[in-house]
Amino acid sequence: MTAQAPVDSPAIGVLRRVFGYDSFRGAQQEIIEHVIGGGDALVLMPTGGGKSLCYQIPALVRHGTGVVISPLIALMQDQVDALRALGVRAGFLNSTQDQRQRRDVEAAFAEGKLDLLYLAPERLRAEATLRLLDRGAIALFAIDEAHCVAQWGHDFRPDYLELSALHERWPAVPRIALTATATEATRAEIADRLNLGAARHFVSSFDRPNIRYRIEPKTDPNRQLLDLLRDEHAGDAGIVYCLSRASVDEKAALLSQSGITALPYHAGLDSRTRTVNQARFLREDGLVIVATIAFGLGIDKPDVRFVAHLDLPKSVEGYYQETGRAGRDGLPATAWLGYGLSDVVQLRKLIDASEGDFAHRRRLAIHLDSMLALCETVECRRVQMLAYFGEPATACGNCDTCLTPAQTWDGTIAAQKVLSAVYRLKRERNQSFGATHIVDILLGKETAKVMENSHAELKVFGVGAEFSASEWRGVVRQLLAQRLLAVQGDYGTLALTALSDEVLAGRRQVPLRREPPRAPRARSAKPAKAVAAVAAELPEAAAGLFERLRAWRAAAAKEQGVPAYVIFHDATLRQIAAELPSTLADLSNISGIGEAKLTRYGQQILDLLAAGESE
Ligand code: ADP
Ligand code: ZN
Repeated sequence: MTAQAPVDSPAIGVLRRVFGYDSFRGAQQEIIEHVIGGGDALVLMPTGGGKSLCYQIPALVRHGTGVVISPLIALMQDQVDALRALGVRAGFLNSTQDQRQRRDVEAAFAEGKLDLLYLAPERLRAEATLRLLDRGAIALFAIDEAHCVAQWGHDFRPDYLELSALHERWPAVPRIALTATATEATRAEIADRLNLGAARHFVSSFDRPNIRYRIEPKTDPNRQLLDLLRDEHAGDAGIVYCLSRASVDEKAALLSQSGITALPYHAGLDSRTRTVNQARFLREDGLVIVATIAFGLGIDKPDVRFVAHLDLPKSVEGYYQETGRAGRDGLPATAWLGYGLSDVVQLRKLIDASEGDFAHRRRLAIHLDSMLALCETVECRRVQMLAYFGEPATACGNCDTCLTPAQTWDGTIAAQKVLSAVYRLKRERNQSFGATHIVDILLGKETAKVMENSHAELKVFGVGAEFSASEWRGVVRQLLAQRLLAVQGDYGTLALTALSDEVLAGRRQVPLRREPPRAPRARSAKPAKAVAAVAAELPEAAAGLFERLRAWRAAAAKEQGVPAYVIFHDATLRQIAAELPSTLADLSNISGIGEAKLTRYGQQILDLLAAGESE
């Protein structure tokens, strides 16, 4: 628990009156008081940690307008709508507006009538924007998604490099940079590039304890995805990530045919379709979006219940950021990843083919190796991810390896068989092949390719009858992950590495992770009915009420053209359903109901509750 602020602290007053929350979370209060006092801050907090309040409250307390730099143009409207719903005077300037709208916002800013102004980073390159900012009073600069300034990270945006100019032009205005993703290296780069050397750093734990992490070999991806969505997340909102546009379209179609409301999102769709699909995902309850990683940055929908990856992410940072979009409301959520040998081969090929210098490719390769290590670990996933961010932790009890400990086996002989097949092909025939053919050789299959090349004559032909093809592929995948084997060239052929010799010479043991023939499903106690999982945890009477409150919310959101969560979060509706407040005063004690929302919706909710009783 944070130390309680004195009740007359302006910050806590704003928290209660405007946002309707009782107390600050984690380091929020310290950060907020620091910025109110004029200090610079670099804030590292996981997604869902509550970063927005860290600049919104100082902006409301300090004189002038808080200027928020954000790359998320498509979401500015929603962010501003959410603030307005709280009675905060907010506006934005970006390329989606016409001239009149822009002028109105500019005038409001210059006249001191805005508490918060959201700006796209590229705006700051225009001298006109800088002159506009000179005309008003600036309370602070907030630099959201600050990792976009770092080239080491995974989301670099050149426009962000210009942001150090803010400090030169307005040295007296405090700056607060915020990000949910930063390794030691990224963090140093952010501080350096944004000139935040003297800023106070606030580093929160990156743990997201409510997210259950699961990583499984991809055996039958369609089946695995459908099982996850039907058995564990029926009726829930979620994101399914795929690497390519084609697979996005294919999986979205698969889900739709299976009776799940799913929409595609990728850069190949026209911008109108993209906007509509994103808006529906944000506005409607229980929709699934199937997307490339182009989707999701800054999506602050609080009730995303699962994030599923059907392809291997390129880095742990990216993976953590993407999965972090689940469960921002703190309620239980799932992060599921399925990955296989072909993912590894494909990503290694992409790295080899990528443009950029040697250092860039090396960086990509290091990122991929860490990701593979995470997939293959027999230890707690969370411990490993947090270690990646420099944070010590103990086994979490809420990831697959904690729940069903992975077994290892001595794979030295199996590894020697694979490596020796690769070695002999190279040595005796000067040939190299991909994993499929190597496995065929080990299994002694007389395929056309084997016959053409007389590979049945090799000493290793047929020495691997003890395993199935898919088991051998698992071995190859793990050897790649351990860098005991490499992928080469356009065809993804296998090659030995500097470490392979040690294995072949028997000087190195190769522990491998045992793979269940079919990964066991996490048993959930939830009914498989299409009841949203969030409601499923409430007592029956309250669950019915929760659904009615949601229906009321959906209608209100539709009427106003805003996302449902802008009206109220699920967590707020749940608390109402559980506590049945009967007066406005009771209602105002519910978390998430501040003055503006109490005035606007209070009576409607009491009426809805009263109608429920008389039924
Ligand atoms: P982030 O930007 O760090 O991902 P947000 O600022 O969107 O996180 O906050 C995540 C969720 O937590 C939001 O729904 C927000 O309203 C809620 N929240 C933030 N701070 C508090 C608090 N002190 N008490 C209750 N809820 C909070
Ligand atoms: Zn764990």
